[in-house]
Amino acid sequence: MSDFTPMMRQYQELKKQYPEAILFFRLGDFYEVFFDDAKTVSKLLEITLTSREAGKGKRAPMAGVPHYTVNTYIGKLIKYGYKVAICDQMEDPKFAKGIVKREIVKIVTPGTVLESNLLDGKTNNYLVVLNFLKNIVGVAAVDLSTGEFQVTEIPGDYGNIIKDKHTQSFPTSGHHERVVLTNKLADELVRFKPAECIVPASINKEQILKWLPNVSIVSREDWCFAEDTGREILLEQFKIKSLVGFGCENLHLAVGAAGVALNYLKETQKTDLSHITKIVTYTTLEFMSLDFSTQKNLELIQRTDGQSRGTLFDILDLTLTPMGARMLRSWMLQPLLNVNEIKKRQDAVEELYNEFALRMGIRDLLSKIYDIERLAGKIGCKSANAKDLIALSSSLKIIPVIKEKLKDVQSWVLKEISVNLDPVTEIVELVDKGITEEPPFTIKEGGVIKNGYSEELDKLRQISKGGKDWITALEDKEKKRTGIGSLKVRFNSVFGYYIEITKSNLSLVPADYIRKQTVVNAERFITPELKEYESVILGADEKINNMEYEIFCEIRDKVAGFANRIQDNAKLVAILDACSSLAEVALKYNYIKPKVNESDTIVVKNGRHPVIERLSSESFVPNDVYLDSDTNQILIITGPNMAGKSTYLRQVALIVLMAQMGSFIPADSAEIGIVDRIFTRVGAADNLIAGQSTFMVEMSETANMLNNATSKSLIILDEVGRGTSTFDGISIAWSVVEYLHNNKQGAKTLFATHFYELTELEMLLPRVKNYNIVVKEWNEEIIFLRKIIEGSADRSYGIQVARLAGLPKEVLHRAKEILKSLEDANYTDNGKPRIGNIKEDKQISLFENQQYLVIEELQKLDVEKLTPIDAINKLNELKSKL
Ligand code: ADP
Ligand code: MG
Repeated sequence: MSDFTPMMRQYQELKKQYPEAILFFRLGDFYEVFFDDAKTVSKLLEITLTSREAGKGKRAPMAGVPHYTVNTYIGKLIKYGYKVAICDQMEDPKFAKGIVKREIVKIVTPGTVLESNLLDGKTNNYLVVLNFLKNIVGVAAVDLSTGEFQVTEIPGDYGNIIKDKHTQSFPTSGHHERVVLTNKLADELVRFKPAECIVPASINKEQILKWLPNVSIVSREDWCFAEDTGREILLEQFKIKSLVGFGCENLHLAVGAAGVALNYLKETQKTDLSHITKIVTYTTLEFMSLDFSTQKNLELIQRTDGQSRGTLFDILDLTLTPMGARMLRSWMLQPLLNVNEIKKRQDAVEELYNEFALRMGIRDLLSKIYDIERLAGKIGCKSANAKDLIALSSSLKIIPVIKEKLKDVQSWVLKEISVNLDPVTEIVELVDKGITEEPPFTIKEGGVIKNGYSEELDKLRQISKGGKDWITALEDKEKKRTGIGSLKVRFNSVFGYYIEITKSNLSLVPADYIRKQTVVNAERFITPELKEYESVILGADEKINNMEYEIFCEIRDKVAGFANRIQDNAKLVAILDACSSLAEVALKYNYIKPKVNESDTIVVKNGRHPVIERLSSESFVPNDVYLDSDTNQILIITGPNMAGKSTYLRQVALIVLMAQMGSFIPADSAEIGIVDRIFTRVGAADNLIAGQSTFMVEMSETANMLNNATSKSLIILDEVGRGTSTFDGISIAWSVVEYLHNNKQGAKTLFATHFYELTELEMLLPRVKNYNIVVKEWNEEIIFLRKIIEGSADRSYGIQVARLAGLPKEVLHRAKEILKSLEDANYTDNGKPRIGNIKEDKQISLFENQQYLVIEELQKLDVEKLTPIDAINKLNELKSKL
């Protein structure tokens, strides 16, 4: 160690504090990275790997980036899941005695990012902490950038996540797989989509990674999660005596988790977190539960191919502020269950929908508001600059105008907004008085504080200005004195102020000039008087910069004191924006306000799929749906491939979801009896998840649905049973329908299937109804009408679709032949459907179908033309077929 240079020793000391982070070491105008970090960084960021003398005969691998672009590089490392420790120079190298003092000022991690260029405005950036017992988990989710802090507890079976001596050695059998998928925790995690997750060291991280493949996981010793520690930290942060007011007093595990979250933020930010002013306790029971495969299958936020275009959010999001977008997103992932709450939101949307001038006026104003929630976050973490304060204050100036616009509103939600919007004039006045109108990005180089804010600062500026005026005057004065017309007074950072005389005029230089430097065509001089003024100016300028910085920090801290009020405003603006977006969408795309109630019926007239109708080139054909708990509990929907079954199913689910988030919907009219959960299950062939047995996934999801559905649930089954052999598939699908019918009476179900056999269920179960999406055959061509009607499809038209796809004629012809013989075998001798009557008849089998094929072939055989050898061969062939 002692062989290293002093600076390298300093580097190693600092690196030791955060060994798991990549250390960015400030060296002049660069951030340098050394040793193994340098190798990692140079590879990932494609920057040159060099080296630097590290001590006697030693060189350290090194990679560096200019300080002003450092954020871009840090951003990339964070995306790769790394943490970055930023080490700055704590004193001006000019005045440093010995080695420049350096400190780690901040750790940037995926879940604690603040820089707006590293964040997506429309998405929260959550850090989630989990605290497990065998049967319950405490969850704390915090978004440092907005100050949002939520806790909850979720009961469940977490035996397979907690590694203890007894469970550790259990193999992950199918049973465990199922447990993983039935977890409500998984649904919440997928909804939060945290960038970073902190868990106790003793748990099995693999399970978390199954739900959140890209999350960066941090472990903390189990004792860090203690409730007492957590409570203490929370009480201190919020300056309160008890957590009763926040509703989490008795959530022991959640409080422990919240404590770990706050500690981690303090550890990484190394500043106050004054913008974290409250903690919200919620339960997963307040909202419609969207399990994680449903969130994926309905393509709410992300499509199955990972894109965000062509999602429901993409269609509904016409918000004008990032807060509004984040609010709309959370509405979408947490639809409401309470009819009154839904109606309140609908009324607000309706009022904005009806009142053209109000809506336009509000939207115009909203577009001028910056992300005040995240600005409050930056201010609270002391990372805001003067431009951020200006952005905040200019946004707050819009608040009273909005308030005025809303003064006559009728709906409850808008009224609440209008009453509670808070112009926080204190901030506006402070910023107006203190901060210059167009401040620079940096806060340490002056130009930030207005004249008139501080007497002391004004005095220094007078001095500096006086000096500068004197110097400006000096040029004229000296020109006159020396008679040199081209004499100039200049400044550079090496020599300070000097007088420059061109070579041809050197003879006229007065005696009191002191020569300093010769350049190509001129000589540079100083005078003692000039140097005196110079030191006054430079001294004053440096003091000015320091003082401006101090004043700026003072103002910023004062503003931080209003964090709570800024955040309350941000929430109101967000709600207003989300409502105005829904109103705008409703108008633009011709949506209507659905009736919502507690009934058991879902009726939609001429419903449309909100996404397909926008993106498809084909004009969209609207369809009705009627579901209830007496006659239409389970709809079996048949129709050929490409008819529109999957579209129809999702359309119904999306319409119900939109209705319960308070949105208008794409239909002519609708009455929606609210549902408690939506389950969406898709047959394996449609759902290729790499690396897993797709049929296994399909079945565990189905099991989860059967176990958790209630009589208030909406169930979408799209070709479930496809992931295995036909008879297996039919049997499973069949018994799933029976189970839903008999054991989950009322659970409204849409089951799209290409198993025509399932349509027989209508004859056997009173609450099952057949529907089909009609197609027309014309000249052996198939025309898709996209219209759903009662009854089962007469046939599957698979062969016609195959023709559309260009299968060779011979194959199509032969397929038709086979189909005919199969269809003829479809009924028993007494004309009853086969599968529905399994008990009476022997089960339909491939063998039987094969029999018919053999008979058909025998019938076609021209015996007279057969040679004996041919006959023997044919016999052999037929026999082997059987
Ligand atoms: P299926 O599930 O029956 O095979 P899909 O639902 O996947 O069929 O629909 C096939 C195609 O038909 C989709 O690409 C979709 O764009 C289009 N489509 C479906 N329903 C409609 C409709 N009601 N109006 C217009 N186009 C539709
Ligand atoms: Mg389909």
